[in-house]
This record gives sequence, C-alpha cells and structure tokens, in this order.
Amino acid sequence: MSAPKLIIVIPCYCEEEVLPVTAPQFKAELEELTGKGLIASDSRILFVDDGSTDGTWKIITELSKEDSKYSGIRLSRNRGHQNALLAGLMEAKASCDITISIDCDGQDDIHAMEKMVEEYSKGADVVYGVRSDRRSDSFFKRTTAKFYYKLLRSMGTDVVYNHADYRLVSSQVLNEFAQFEEVNLFLRGMFPLVGFDSAEVYYERHERIAGKSHYPLGKMMSLALNGITSLSVKPIRIITGLGTIVALISFGLLVYTFVRYFMGATIEGWASTAAIICFMSGIQLVCLGVIGEYVGKIYLETKHRPRYIISKRTDDPGKDQPLA
Ligand code: UDP
Ligand code: MG
Repeated sequence: MSAPKLIIVIPCYCEEEVLPVTAPQFKAELEELTGKGLIASDSRILFVDDGSTDGTWKIITELSKEDSKYSGIRLSRNRGHQNALLAGLMEAKASCDITISIDCDGQDDIHAMEKMVEEYSKGADVVYGVRSDRRSDSFFKRTTAKFYYKLLRSMGTDVVYNHADYRLVSSQVLNEFAQFEEVNLFLRGMFPLVGFDSAEVYYERHERIAGKSHYPLGKMMSLALNGITSLSVKPIRIITGLGTIVALISFGLLVYTFVRYFMGATIEGWASTAAIICFMSGIQLVCLGVIGEYVGKIYLETKHRPRYIISKRTDDPGKDQPLA
C-alpha cells in the first residue's frame, strides 16, 4: 500500500498571534512524516479561517504563496469551531486519503500525528487523540469536564473520554459522515455514530502558545448542552419520569387532604400548600425549558440552512465561491 495522502485541517479564528508560530511547526511535522515515508509527498495543510476579523486570512494567503503545502479556505462569517472544522473536513475529503483535525494554538501535541498515522496503517479508520492528563487546565475546567463526560455517557452518548477534536479520520469515513446533515454539531459525539474501526492515541495537552481562548464559560456551556441535546433525548424521558413521580405524590396528598377534611381539620396547611405550588411551578418551568431546547433544535434543523459558506480559497483568493 502506498503512503496515504494526509490533509491537516486547522480551524482558526482571530489567531494572528499564534499562526505565524504554529504554522511552521505543522509544516515541519508534515515534512517529518513525509520523510519517514508514512504519508504521501503531496500531503498538505488546510487552514479554515472562521470569519476572523483580524489579520488571520492575510497570514494564510501569504503562507500559501510561500509554500504549496499551505492552503486555506475562508468562511463568509464566524460560524464557530465545529462548523469551521466541518467545512475543512468536507473540503478536504475529496482530495486526500486521511485528515487530521487539530487546533491552531499549539495546545495539542503535534507529534501524536505519527502514532495516529501508524494506527491508520494498522487498520483504524478513525483515531481519537486522547489527553493523557489535564494538568494544564484549571481545577474548575478539570472537574467540570470529568463530570460532563460522565453525564454524557449516562445519557447514552458514546463519547471517547478526554477526546476533543484532535482526530484522524479517513476519507471513507468522511464520505459516510457527509450524510449526517444536522446543523447542531457536536463532532466528537458524531464520529462514534458513523462506526468503523477506531483507535486511541494518548498525548499531553499544553498551554496555548499565544492569544486567548475563544471558548469562554458561556460558549463552553452552550457546546456542552448541545452535546447532550443533539445526541440524546434522555432528558425528556427523565422529565416524563419526574412528572410521573410528582403526579403520584400529588395523588397521595389529595387523598390525605380528603381524609383531613372529613376529620374536620382543614384550616392548617396553607404554608405547605404554598410551598408545594412554588415547587411545582419551578419544576414545570425547568421542564418547559428542557422541552423548549429540543423544540428550538427541531426549528433550526427544519430550516436546512447551510452550515457554512466558503467565501474565499487561497488558490483563488479574489473570487467568491458558490455555496459549499
Ligand atoms: N475557533 C474557531 N472558531 C471559533 C472559535 C474558535 O475556528 O469561533 C478555533 C480556534 O482558532 C482554535 C480552535 O477553534 O484553533 C479551538 O479554540 P480555542 O483554542 O479558543 O479553544 P480552547 O482550546 O480554549 O477550548
Ligand atoms: Mg485552544
């Protein structure tokens, strides 16, 4: 079997501080893998500029002029990490055998790519990069992440523990993945749904080389929520269960009230009644919120809007391209 052609897909959003540092590192890794005969010599890097408002796209076009190993596409506006990554993978799949997706900030150890490619040559179609430890994270992120992965699993979602979006995927898997047309993306939970043989490669995650995280708490929570609601309907089932339990308790209370009435003791108890009403309204609002979350998802899915629009490509930077 000849060496597979690799495209490294790298989403970038306002990364002008990091890109000049990490781009040569990615290229060096690509050349090392080529030198070892693990990947084909026409392998390359594909940057996806997620509608950056700084000089990121300029850097990408300059890099591509400097070396044909660099290429890039630009989205028409900021669509978020998951959509940007999807755009890159869909763009790459027709012209390569394998893709590796990685963040552009140097946090993920690029040397793990070699092990990923080796796992591919041993037969895995998807290779998940798994963080061997979370030392570089804050205590808060570490504990919430652990709880979150457990929660996802308890909801019946198959996610690889401590795996984010550093992953090797073969073009065959990507071609099948293209059939997943949902707009609410949670890629790390979707690839296990596609199936195929998979493997895991462990690596250490470092601090960001420069710039700042684009995942503040709010965005992280929204991704986390999306992870659950786009892959599982268990929360709605839990609500049904909760409703049943509360209804049974209420029935018991009703019987109790009647008994008290016939015993002539009906004045007491207004405080507990008020408490129950407040409690019930709270539960009902939460339940409505959860159901609303799913209704909102259905609303977005039924629109079938494009998940991203590519406005520029480095091979033709001036001209706008049609819908992807
Ligand atoms: N990113 C993106 N679009 C966004 C936000 C982030 O393409 O709207 C990219 C970003 O440039 C980086 C990757 O997604 O390559 C991960 O983002 P970041 O490092 O900010 O997240 P963190 O590692 O802190 O979770
Ligand atoms: Mg990062």
